[in-house]
Amino acid sequence: MMQPNTNYAKLKESYLFAGIAKKTQAYLDAHPGQKLYRMGIGDVSLPLCPAVIEALHGAVEEQAHKETFHGYMPECGAPFLRETIAAHYARRGVNLSPDEVFVSSGASDELGDILDLFDKETPALVIEPAYPAYLDASVIAGREIIHLASGALGGFLPSPPETDKPGLIYLCSPNNPTGAVFGRTQLQAWVDYANRTGAVILFDAAYEAYIEDPALPHSIFELEGARTCAVEICSLSKTAGFTGTRLGYTVIPTELARGGLSLNAMWVRNRTTKTNGVSFLLQKGGAAVFTPEGQAQIHAQLAVYKNNAKTLTNALEQCGIWFTGGRNAPYIWLRCPGGMGSWEFFDYLLHRVQVVGTPGEGFGRCGKGYFRFSTFASPEDTEEAAARLVRLLG
Ligand code: PLP
Repeated sequence: MMQPNTNYAKLKESYLFAGIAKKTQAYLDAHPGQKLYRMGIGDVSLPLCPAVIEALHGAVEEQAHKETFHGYMPECGAPFLRETIAAHYARRGVNLSPDEVFVSSGASDELGDILDLFDKETPALVIEPAYPAYLDASVIAGREIIHLASGALGGFLPSPPETDKPGLIYLCSPNNPTGAVFGRTQLQAWVDYANRTGAVILFDAAYEAYIEDPALPHSIFELEGARTCAVEICSLSKTAGFTGTRLGYTVIPTELARGGLSLNAMWVRNRTTKTNGVSFLLQKGGAAVFTPEGQAQIHAQLAVYKNNAKTLTNALEQCGIWFTGGRNAPYIWLRCPGGMGSWEFFDYLLHRVQVVGTPGEGFGRCGKGYFRFSTFASPEDTEEAAARLVRLLG
């Protein structure tokens, strides 16, 4: 008889988003027509920028004619996009060969798929609170999880553990949900730890474009020694509004090897076996993000989200509420006032001021008593939510 992967039975039921949906629906049923101010959404609200739209139209037109039509794309990415992304890194002082850049359909796909490179017996370290996919993808793969709690004392940026056990380490900076960003010294400590113990860091840089402080690293490859211990997973979702369009990229340096095997070569083999590449249209659209025009346009959009962050953090400051993030990151992580629990605060905000956020305990045990706001709503809704917070809590 076929045996299923019983690791699925070990997955904890995620109550977070289902719980939010259920509670907000119940509120709306009881208060028909009431407007909610949704400060919890993890999806962008602004459309693709004009440079991307123009490139997408151009690509569609190419597909319409025999002379310019493209069939299968190379599995690891179109050379034009791999070169464009390598040049983007070079402008920030990181030298990569285009062969080290793999085009993907987004970070989520990669966070799961990349586990194919590692032996199932390799334990994975997850810093909590964490983006839920790290834990769940590792559990599905049957991997032992080492939970490393982080807290307000260290700014939610913990140092490497005493134990040498983790073989895989998930780092996310700027972080979802805490908005915390590793400084160079802190990140260097993780790189040194991984090189010393033979671990591999999976560095999730999905929010790197939100970094504005020039002292903070956008890429782990800005750190000395990272080429022998890190894989970087990136996405255009929150950078350029590709959440529904889907495009990302993963960097695997050629020096990265374990057990005599090159992880870059293994990933080439993996992609050529398991994919037939990413759509030509999307790769053309993605390449437009890295042009000077595209960069100017996406940064104008990011400025809208950053302004929302300022609106919300100003309100929290007025209310005397402790928070981290909101600068260099699109998330704000706050301590629930008055010692309230995460869900208690959720209900309080929903019922008293119709503001919806995300309870911190949905991201792991040490998120208890914390709450996440995201900054992707419209400026009008964000301003109204902020005013309501000040009225209620100020
Ligand atoms: N990594 C983090 C930390 C995220 O917050 C998200 C999406 O919210 C992703 C990865 C997934 O990004 P993508 O849309 O590219 O799959």
